[in-house]
Amino acid sequence: MDESEEEKQYDCPKCQDQLGYIQGEWPNEVWIRCSCIEWRRAQRLMKSSEITEEFKKLGFKNFNTKGKPQVIQDAYDCALEYFQEFDAIKCQRQNSIALLGQPGAGKTHLLTAVANNLINRLHVPVLYFPYVEGFNDLKDDFDKLEEKVERMKKVDVLFIDDLFKPTGRERKPRATEWQIEQMYAVVNNRYLNHMPIMVSSELTVDELCNVDEALGTRIYQMCKDFTVVIKGDRKILNHRLED
Ligand SMILES: [Zn+2]
Repeated sequence: MDESEEEKQYDCPKCQDQLGYIQGEWPNEVWIRCSCIEWRRAQRLMKSSEITEEFKKLGFKNFNTKGKPQVIQDAYDCALEYFQEFDAIKCQRQNSIALLGQPGAGKTHLLTAVANNLINRLHVPVLYFPYVEGFNDLKDDFDKLEEKVERMKKVDVLFIDDLFKPTGRERKPRATEWQIEQMYAVVNNRYLNHMPIMVSSELTVDELCNVDEALGTRIYQMCKDFTVVIKGDRKILNHRLED
């Protein structure tokens, strides 16, 4: 086997997966921590975040605000500022972010960009919970539900995507008593323990409160420093319709 072929066996050729290497000569040898430790940490966090392959690519740089209404720029600024201030505010009561309103305006993209940056740059554990698919997966499996709800309570940052996503022509919020109960248990626990959430929803704050006053109020209290409600002409705002 030639050397280059051998090297390919390692995730990190520099330390040959030893997470460090010896530098200098006896008696002054020192053990150097390899920089791949950080990369490995981010990889592990990304895996446990349940962020999909496709979503891993979503960042601030590939979010287009050019020619978009001011409110889209506001949402972008809000998300970026939230990431930049995260370390300073993470233990406060108002330590969370909500991007609300208009479907297709890029709310999920922006919050996923925050999540990816938290994981890759600050090495903060994040859990992605897509509201509709997440509950579909859990509804028939009590053990799985219990385990997931525990993780949702304990992870450093919880990203709830498309909370109460409305359905049908009347745009009726999707929220059974059971779903509300689970969400409230998670969000209230996080509120009491000053643990951040990131929420995207087509509903406004008032509409969230109409679904469930206690849950809506909690979300408002946690997110009020970083909340943007996107409203307006769907044709202008929906960047998925472009190209
Ligand atoms: Zn290494």
